[in-house]
Amino acid sequence: MGVTNSITQARAQAAERAASFSFIPEIYLHDGETAFVRFLSKGDGTDQGFGTARVHFVERTSKKGKKYTQPVYCPKEDDSQCTLCEQGEATKAQLAIWCYVHYIRHLNQNPALANDKDAEAWREIKTPGGSTFFLEDVKRVQLFRKGFGQGAYIFEYFVQHFDNHGVLNDRWYTITRKGASMQDTSYAIMPVEIDDKHPRELMDEERAAMALLPPIDAVFRDQVSYDNRTGEFKLKVEDAVVSEGEVDDDAALTKDVDTTSVPDPVPDEKPKPPSALDALKRHAAAQGESVSPETKPLEELV
Ligand SMILES: [Zn+2]
Repeated sequence: MGVTNSITQARAQAAERAASFSFIPEIYLHDGETAFVRFLSKGDGTDQGFGTARVHFVERTSKKGKKYTQPVYCPKEDDSQCTLCEQGEATKAQLAIWCYVHYIRHLNQNPALANDKDAEAWREIKTPGGSTFFLEDVKRVQLFRKGFGQGAYIFEYFVQHFDNHGVLNDRWYTITRKGASMQDTSYAIMPVEIDDKHPRELMDEERAAMALLPPIDAVFRDQVSYDNRTGEFKLKVEDAVVSEGEVDDDAALTKDVDTTSVPDPVPDEKPKPPSALDALKRHAAAQGESVSPETKPLEELV
């Protein structure tokens, strides 16, 4: 009885823990939508909130039978062997940056209201030009992760803004999506004019978030988990407990590690260049990037 109880209890705890962990929240925009964000990285190599990596795109099937594409870090750049490369799988360059998302500007009211009268109604606003938009308050950290885009134009936005201002986090930015399909979708990343509502200085919530974030490099290596109860990002350590089999494979079983006390997960990392963006710019030029496939957001598929 005692043994049965403890097994039941352990399973319940594992399931509860797994259910609370989920994929890292990313900025997903529909055609015409705009996110108002603060980048949580200076972009000058003094923090690890911005980075690039080469990834393979691997087809996966969730336990519920839904197919999705997962970007998988290619260790070849670390001079390590890569089984996917050996199988002839191609890589694409991706960039990722932590963002504090203040709000997302939608063209239409929250569609969830149609089925759920308790769903949040977004704030209706009118622009000086007479357009109507709906603002969804987000007010949390999300990841902006994309391929470099055709001619590396998405990457070039970051290079240009860094060149213009010396840092990436001294003002708000808008990220706007135009187009609905994989072929005709493009993004525009533009600075927001500095004023009282969009200050130069980091706001308290932005500063607090920036101090706690794990390095982007760990995100690429799938070493970060997200606790959707607390909104915390943690470095994870793969655990042998996964054989339990009772939990959904959509959620990761992880062991929590305090990110503040853990050394960089890449012990043999090469010395940091004076400017990460300069180095990345050279890297991008050398790679001659073309269009990268968009990863399908899992929410849309499941
Ligand atoms: Zn590879």
